[in-house]
Formats: sequence, C-alpha cells, structure tokens
Amino acid sequence: MDVFRVVKDNVTARQVAEYYGMKIGRNGMACCPFHDDKHPSMKLDKRYYCFGCGEKGDAIDFVGKYFGMTSKDAAMKIADDFGMEYKSEKYKPPQKPLKPKKTLEQEFCEAQDYCFKGLSDYLHLLKEWKIKYAPKSMDEEWHPLFCEALDNIDQTEYLLDTLLNGDVRDRAFLVQNQGRKVKSIHERIREFNNRREKCITGGSERKQRAHERERG
Ligand SMILES: [Zn+2]
Repeated sequence: MDVFRVVKDNVTARQVAEYYGMKIGRNGMACCPFHDDKHPSMKLDKRYYCFGCGEKGDAIDFVGKYFGMTSKDAAMKIADDFGMEYKSEKYKPPQKPLKPKKTLEQEFCEAQDYCFKGLSDYLHLLKEWKIKYAPKSMDEEWHPLFCEALDNIDQTEYLLDTLLNGDVRDRAFLVQNQGRKVKSIHERIREFNNRREKCITGGSERKQRAHERERG
C-alpha cells in the first residue's frame, strides 16, 4: 500500500496533532497553530477545522502545514514516526533487456561483409551491362551503362580482391574509405533492380510469347 493510503487509513488529524505536541481538550478543541489563536478555535477529529482562520484538512495536511513539508514528505514522516509500514514507490525505469554490445571486431566484420556484398553485386551487374549494352556497330553511340561497366569493372574487381586476399590493414583501409561509396552502390543496385522488376512484370507476357516462338 502506498504511504498516503496507509496514513489516511490509520491515523487521525487529532492523533498526529497530539503526537507533535498540541494540547487538545476533551471536546477535541485546541488553539490553532496556524493563526494567532488565544482561545481554542480548532476542532480536531479525523480531520481538523479552524473556526478562526478556516484551515482544514486531514492528518497529512496538518503535518504538512505544521512542519512546512510537501504532502508526500508529511505522509512519510507520519508513517515513520508512527511505525507504519508502506511500500516506497521510488521510480524504477522499466527494465529493458540489454543488447550485448558489439565488439570492434564484430563491427568490422559486418562492415566488411556489407562492402563485399555491395561490390560483388555491383560487379555482377557491370559484367551484365558490358555484354548487354555493348554497341552493335562502330558508329552507334555508347550506352551509359556500357560506359559505366568499362569504367568500373577493373576497380571493383581490385577492391573485391583486396577484401578477399588483402591483409587486415588493407581491408580496414578499404572498408573505412569505400564505405560511403559502397553505400551508394547498394542504393544504385536497389534502384536498378526495382526498375528491372517493373520491366519484367510489364514485359513478361511479351517475353513469354517470344520464348514460346523460339522453342516452337
Ligand atoms: Zn486557525
């Protein structure tokens, strides 16, 4: 039970006022400690009320006002002084299961895998483009994807070779320096694949027919 409930259920304003030194007559009347009271004008029972100044409340309000405390502190003071047990409700943040922190080595391995995957997918595409978009005649303008393939195949192969066979320093250097490039490669591949998917869906029927014609 929380401290407010415990105090409210177990102690009256009159009991706490007496406990903290107020003299209370048999009729439950006392001189009000909250105003300059010459004749008893405060009535105390379960709650208290002053006919002079209008102060009123329960045991917690009384102690709060009497000692200049917050309600919470007043309630805890009463509970402690009267030996009442209560559940202290200190805020506990909800416990989240902690994720095991990645070691530097794990992080490096992941970054390396990411690079490797990006570069090898890209190389695959480049090789495809080199064949698919190769100019059919001398005076045909070169397709940009064909140009991209020519420009990048060697370098991509070299980077992949470094990732596979380089020593740890070379690999770390590559992962660190090509990370951003690889990210843009991943994006490029995704973009390209999306476009291709659309083409395939759109052209599948036509392709199917052409395929059947070839076979027949
Ligand atoms: Zn009063």
